[in-house]
Amino acid sequence: MANQHGQSTHQLAGISSETLQDLLRQWQQPAFRARQILDWRNKGILNPEHMGNLPRDLRRRLGSEIECESLQLIRRQCSADGTRKYVFSLKRPPLQGRQIESVLIPETKRATVCISSQIGCVLDCPFCYTGTQGFEGNLTAAEIIAQILAIKHDLHSDPLPQTLHNEVTHIVYMGMGEPMANEAGVHGSLRLLLDDFRISRRRITLSTSGLVPQIERLGENYPVNLAISLHAADNDLRDRLVPINRKYPLERLRDCLDCYPLGRQRHITLEYVMLAGVNDREEDIRSLLAFVNPARERLNLIQFNPYPGNPFLGSSKEHMNAFAQRLISKGIRATVRRSRGEDIMAACGQLKAETSAVQSAEH
Ligand code: SAH
Ligand code: SF4
Repeated sequence: MANQHGQSTHQLAGISSETLQDLLRQWQQPAFRARQILDWRNKGILNPEHMGNLPRDLRRRLGSEIECESLQLIRRQCSADGTRKYVFSLKRPPLQGRQIESVLIPETKRATVCISSQIGCVLDCPFCYTGTQGFEGNLTAAEIIAQILAIKHDLHSDPLPQTLHNEVTHIVYMGMGEPMANEAGVHGSLRLLLDDFRISRRRITLSTSGLVPQIERLGENYPVNLAISLHAADNDLRDRLVPINRKYPLERLRDCLDCYPLGRQRHITLEYVMLAGVNDREEDIRSLLAFVNPARERLNLIQFNPYPGNPFLGSSKEHMNAFAQRLISKGIRATVRRSRGEDIMAACGQLKAETSAVQSAEH
């Protein structure tokens, strides 16, 4: 990213402490200022005018030489169950004004933030609203982190009811986009979350449609919890539902999942959106039994979230439960996801499914 003079512009939400220290040295500021600025940043305060312990000239310089607020909050919707959905717009050219969505899902002892990694997606899964919208660009590490910071700030200025947890504890990469198709932004954001924000890798989950080499690199560098959008356990059907399967078919995905590093008591989540008459048949149970490794994997059956113009119908709740019971009786750990924030998500093609996905991906 560059400013109007062609120089690169730093984004505060994603800046490392070394880079900030270098910058402050160039500005002839004492070293302790870096810690002060990062303390504000890590609390979700990105506007230098609100960094009370900084001298006024430094606040001004920060504001003019660094992109401090990478996202602008456009809309916030709050559900009766505490779920909050946020729409942000990007500030940097050429993606200025493009919108992304994030969701906060609070529970009694934890609160999960679901973040976007791209604007749109190139992968074109036919049941996915994001996929039908085309691809407009990758988010930077800072723009990924800024979603979490903005939500932290929101929780601070407008706390949840006391029965719900008011601090962000878990992060899931399940919003707009395919995180493994934006390795630079996603790896950069993971490094910050793990190293600077000190969030445990057990509290971070990344969902991918199955880009095998990228999953391998993730496992080597940032072995966070993995969720795979399986949706079919037969190559012909998966070629249609998750087109990246034509490049990385189930056999390759199988090998990759078998090698993904898991900590103690952890598992890989296999996501399975239930589409009536398409992937919820008897033969699909047989394919799943042949594919899933019950020792390392859990299956999450997700209710399809319809949107205008889509060609699919979701399976009924009764059928989903019966499908899950059949799999459980054969030794597969299968769960049906509970939806959250239904009242506000009604019009949103995808995030409703994603936010509900979070519940069981993390349990
Ligand atoms: N691109 C990544 C992450 C974002 S999608 C991926 O595909 O995994 C997050 C989850 O929502 C995926 O499991 C995806 O398949 C699912 N999803 C997409 N559209 C959906 C819909 N209309 N209804 C229910 N789930 C959907
Ligand atoms: Fe992209 Fe995931 Fe949607 Fe497929 S399901 S189009 S990979 S965002």
